[in-house]
Amino acid sequence: MAGTIEERIEEILRALKGRHPGQEEFMQAVEEVLVSLKPLFENQGEEDYLGAFSVIAEPERVIKFRVQYPTFGPEGAELHTTTGYRVQFNSALGPYKGGLRFHPSVSESIIKFLGFEQIFKNALTNLPIGGGKGGCVFDPKGKSDSEVRMLCEHFMKGLYRHIGPNLDVPAGDIGVGGREIGYMYGEYVRLKGQPDMGVLTGKSTDFGGSKLRPEATGYGLVYITLEALKKYNHYRYLPEERRAGVAENCFKGLKVLISGSGNVAQFAAQKVMELGGQVCSFSDSTGTITSTEGFSEDQLKELFHLKNVKRGRVSEMSTAEGLEYHAGKSVWELGLNCDIALPSATQNEITLEGAKNLAAGGCWCVAEGANMPTTNEAVDYLKTKVDIYIPAKAANAGGVATSALEMAQNSARLFWSSEEVDEKLNGIMTNIFATAYKTAQEFDRPWDLQFGANAAGFLKVYKAYKAMGYLKF
Ligand code: GLU
Repeated sequence: MAGTIEERIEEILRALKGRHPGQEEFMQAVEEVLVSLKPLFENQGEEDYLGAFSVIAEPERVIKFRVQYPTFGPEGAELHTTTGYRVQFNSALGPYKGGLRFHPSVSESIIKFLGFEQIFKNALTNLPIGGGKGGCVFDPKGKSDSEVRMLCEHFMKGLYRHIGPNLDVPAGDIGVGGREIGYMYGEYVRLKGQPDMGVLTGKSTDFGGSKLRPEATGYGLVYITLEALKKYNHYRYLPEERRAGVAENCFKGLKVLISGSGNVAQFAAQKVMELGGQVCSFSDSTGTITSTEGFSEDQLKELFHLKNVKRGRVSEMSTAEGLEYHAGKSVWELGLNCDIALPSATQNEITLEGAKNLAAGGCWCVAEGANMPTTNEAVDYLKTKVDIYIPAKAANAGGVATSALEMAQNSARLFWSSEEVDEKLNGIMTNIFATAYKTAQEFDRPWDLQFGANAAGFLKVYKAYKAMGYLKF
């Protein structure tokens, strides 16, 4: 095909935008991967990676359905209507796999960006899972348990005919945890008239869930960060006065900023603290809570209870023991010092300004717990300032990887112990790091894990699509 690589990249983006108008987040996610893969395109030889990319960037199937659910106010029940989405993006490597998001910001663009990211993330796990994502607009804030159950059941009424253990296996994401998966699975069984555990992952261990699934994204994030610390031997770059108490290749004594306070943030914090690191922040949509010396174990327990049982806001943490609450502020606006940043809240939370604050505060490692938490310009900036940048597709893959382990256990009709799952999760994260690093190294850019992760994920899907005859007339 004619044209320079830059011209072809422009053309692919223009054509995709024409077919998916007004979908900013989706375009951002596609552009991030496309532009990062330039070194691959420049060395494509006989292959047509660019042509393949334009095929892979188009979802295999987009499903939209009406969801009607009641809420119960003082005036009686009220019926609400919303749109349910399921984007079955890519099945080259296995059944569509990815979470469901219930949040006010959900749109077709958000679900497509997440589904697109999921393709490459899932490929990196080296497990047989394709990419998909779904969800709907819903604000769980202040909703009763019954109202959440109503939404889940009515959402499943629209979704159930499109999913199945060998077809599409949803799980959780923002606003969808164990409680919601339980309600959705209950409704699925009612509608189908038979149990089929493998249709959803992230189930409670009471009825078919895997041990350690709730912990997996956060733990995986820390395991891969540890791999990076080892590989790049960061310890030797620390100034002399900071080395005391900082064991080599370990979190000991390192200051870690975490954003978010959901599943990923909570378990990343637990693991960082277990390894001796100081977790100095959490946040939610209303503000940030910080601790200069690092949260204590009791404070972390309080946060778990607040978020998972009381379903409250971080502002409700007791600030007596050296905690400070910053109303309406994100972690990245505060200009805090840190060694490591683990953005684990939501997309685009680190803007260029936030990235500058991080660099100015001495941050030398960013590992992404949330999906696309950093804007494209902020990624470009950070890559020039920090020593280690681990993109979400690699860094937060532990969740979906453990979902795939849940699928395997459900198919085999047996359960593994926490130790077995943890060992497998650790192995998968180590392997993801090694794959991204090796791919980056092969292209003479060993520091560039953004390229390494994107290229390794892309090549896996490319090879499968090529073998399936999807790439040539
Ligand atoms: N929502 C998670 C993610 O972004 C997990 C998806 C899954 O377990 O299927 O990867």
